Amino acid sequence: YIQSKALVYSKHGEPSDVLKLHTHSISPSIPSSSVLVRTLAASINPADINTIQGTYGSKQPMTSLIGTAEPSAVPGNEGVFEVVSVGNSSLSLKKGDWVIPAAPQIGTWRTHAVFEANHLLKIDKKDLTPTQVATVSINPCTAYRILRDYGPSAGLKTGLPMRPLKIGSGEWFIQNGANSGVGRAAIQFGRLWGLRSINVIRDRDSMEETEALKQELISLGADVVVSESQLLSRDWKDQLADVTRGGREQIGLALNCVGGKSATSLARSLGEGATLVSYGGMSKQPVTLPLGLLIFKDIRFVGFWLSKWNQKDATGRKHMVDDILNLIRLGHFKDVPMDEVKWDWDTKETPLKEAVQGGLKGFRKGKGVFLF
Ligand code: NDP
Repeated sequence: YIQSKALVYSKHGEPSDVLKLHTHSISPSIPSSSVLVRTLAASINPADINTIQGTYGSKQPMTSLIGTAEPSAVPGNEGVFEVVSVGNSSLSLKKGDWVIPAAPQIGTWRTHAVFEANHLLKIDKKDLTPTQVATVSINPCTAYRILRDYGPSAGLKTGLPMRPLKIGSGEWFIQNGANSGVGRAAIQFGRLWGLRSINVIRDRDSMEETEALKQELISLGADVVVSESQLLSRDWKDQLADVTRGGREQIGLALNCVGGKSATSLARSLGEGATLVSYGGMSKQPVTLPLGLLIFKDIRFVGFWLSKWNQKDATGRKHMVDDILNLIRLGHFKDVPMDEVKWDWDTKETPLKEAVQGGLKGFRKGKGVFLF
């Protein structure tokens, strides 16, 4: 028998209140369609916390499959596992392979698991680290999809292996939450694909810190980085005109991670017929849309949800993941800053729960990643 530990919750609430560390054993005789895996790394994303809180767009089923006293669920949507053993030697997976989830909400915050082989996607681990693979499938894929599906490339057939192909010739997009995982990915794909970006970050405690973050994003490939106070100021219109040569270069796309006033201001920055894609609501504030933008400028307001896209195009997803991993291997795409949380057999419940609870806080140094 293999001993395994998992974070579980049996009712919705704040992670620090409802998460428990559960120990159980896994029988070595696994079903023939399944594989036994050990987790190498698993990330903590805002959506995981919202799922535990019960405020996310989908809920996890609660079961007693891993022997918890009450029906429960294992959180975690993203991670990388190593195959330890297979239920049947004719499966396409072999011992030592690296896999990521192919099914939604399979629960990555655990040391070991038994999964259906077809709920996993094998990846080529060559020259990659566990944290690089563990963080590839949500943030970078969201940025990739939004830029491809709503940027100047919109209409390009999806599902094709994408190379670092030039799809724009300097078209602008604007985004808030630019230092988020998704935002940093959008900056980098934008640079690789010939788009130019205007990036909004929240003001830090001091000018120096704000400036340091601006420089960090510029080194990733951002063309323009402004603080939220600039975006919301009266001068923004003039500043934007300077950037876009008096409005001769129109902004065709906005990526909204934040909501509230910041989103309204992104919408006001857009050109005729442009699209604002909302994918996150970090400020928890609703978006107010001036009617003039709808009527006179015909701005499109749409939402994007990766989970739904993944279900529609599994092959396209595989190509996208492979493409991004390849960009990482070639040194064209950098990881987000990470806050590594060691999880070994002796790790207690409290530091794990605290790491999760901290994952929605603002002004963080990096994305939380459990490292096993
Ligand atoms: P990260 O944890 O990497 O970054 C969080 C971002 O949110 C930072 O830019 C942070 O800025 C900002 N932020 C935090 N608190 C606030 C606040 N109160 N007001 C304004 N901004 C704030 O996040 P991810 O990139 O993983 O996710 C970002 C958003 O995108 C989340 O809402 C997430 O759920 C969503 N998302 C949606 C997907 C979809 O399919 N629709 C897929 C992936 C993510 P600062 O440093 O200034 O605090």
